[in-house]
Amino acid sequence: MSGGLRVAVVGGSLAGLTMGLLLRDSGHDVHVFERSPELLEGLGAGIIVHEPTVRYFVERSSIALDDISLTSERLQYLARDGSVQHEEPSDYRFTAWNSLFRGLRSLFEDDRYHRSHTLSGIDQDADGVDLRFAEGHEGRFDLVVCADGVNSVGRQRLFGVRASYSGYVGWRGLAGEDELSPETWQELDNCFTYGVLDDEHIVAYPIPTVGQDINVVGRRVNFTWYRNVAVGPEYDELLTDRTGLPRPLSVPAGLVQDRFVAAMRADAERLMPPQLAELVTTAHAPFITAIVDADVPALASGRVCLIGDAAVTARPHAAAGSAKACADAWSLAHALENSGSEVVSALETWQVGALRRGRALLHRTRDMGERLQGAPGRWRPDDPTNRFGLDVSRQRERATP
Ligand SMILES: Cc1cc2nc3c(=O)[nH]c(=O)nc-3n(C[C@H](O)[C@H](O)[C@H](O)COP(=O)(O)OP(=O)(O)OC[C@H]3O[C@@H](n4cnc5c(N)ncnc54)[C@H](O)[C@@H]3O)c2cc1C
Repeated sequence: MSGGLRVAVVGGSLAGLTMGLLLRDSGHDVHVFERSPELLEGLGAGIIVHEPTVRYFVERSSIALDDISLTSERLQYLARDGSVQHEEPSDYRFTAWNSLFRGLRSLFEDDRYHRSHTLSGIDQDADGVDLRFAEGHEGRFDLVVCADGVNSVGRQRLFGVRASYSGYVGWRGLAGEDELSPETWQELDNCFTYGVLDDEHIVAYPIPTVGQDINVVGRRVNFTWYRNVAVGPEYDELLTDRTGLPRPLSVPAGLVQDRFVAAMRADAERLMPPQLAELVTTAHAPFITAIVDADVPALASGRVCLIGDAAVTARPHAAAGSAKACADAWSLAHALENSGSEVVSALETWQVGALRRGRALLHRTRDMGERLQGAPGRWRPDDPTNRFGLDVSRQRERATP
């Protein structure tokens, strides 16, 4: 490969850090620019682990999968009365967004990770890209990788595309072993649980708490309860936090208005299998994420490209967004290596496969969402297309230790 490129990666989460690490390893001069002034923390966001998600740890670090994730034994569906409606063996690994982030961040140099850098402007010519950050910094780069998530400024500047709302939100939360009854803990630990209700559904699974030394120090069960909320006053009110601030896509833990939390808990008692109702009503600071997706006409323009949720954003039903984000980073790093760091031609070649992969996931998860949140009976537990991961025909994506 020819000499190192000066690279800006915008967004310092899972996609951005994986990209930063890979391009650093290839000998490029990489800087990651993250909007947040604080160390990122994602309260209670569970992630099902697939091979691309943890490939960097497995191939290039001494961090073991058991240090950042948990194993499971089965997948189950609970009926309204709490009985097991369907059950099958399953060996998915579970982690928390925090655990992955903490592991990746520990492998990337502090002096190349710049907080309080919010991308606001991009201009490019044949020789390079000029970036402007809202805080006043500027820089010129050979390659810019935008990994700035679902509301990507890069995606908007390049293609004018914003994410669109699916028609439902996810209520999310978590509870520890000491907070749940022993029976409920026993039934929800070690497995992935579905509760499919009339036109909504809930999923629950255990996730680890990872300590400062990157090791599992505890476990909790997290849930996402997907509820249909039409666009309009009801949605606007729900997405207004308890200080009166309208939130574009999510209301963080502790900021959801009390009356919505109370109504949600009462609905859980009324509608759910008792184990899941206990989990939902025990979680003390539930939070809300509006479920959105986004398609794009292309992933690259000149020397600038999009990866992860900044590129194609898929709904979470295949649990594969992080896997796609990391797969985008790996394939881009390979394309650059194969092209001898000829940026424009590498991006052109790379985007064909990456866009195909992203769109396949987008369409599959739209279909899953419509079956899960639509008329009752459209979701069958034994349907093989329900599986998690980027590609249902390749179950090797599941991570093995
Ligand atoms: C309910 C739910 C459940 C999910 N479950 C799973 C799962 O089980 N498995 C799985 O693989 N995926 C799952 N996902 C998807 C997964 O969380 C995302 O796909 C993944 O986090 C995307 O990573 P990313 O790095 O592309 O974006 P993000 O994690 O969103 O990171 C974007 C980063 O960019 C920063 N940023 C934003 N704007 C700017 C700017 N202008 N300038 C600089 N920085 C900026 C942000 O602060 C953030 O740090 C789930 C998603 C949801 C909503």
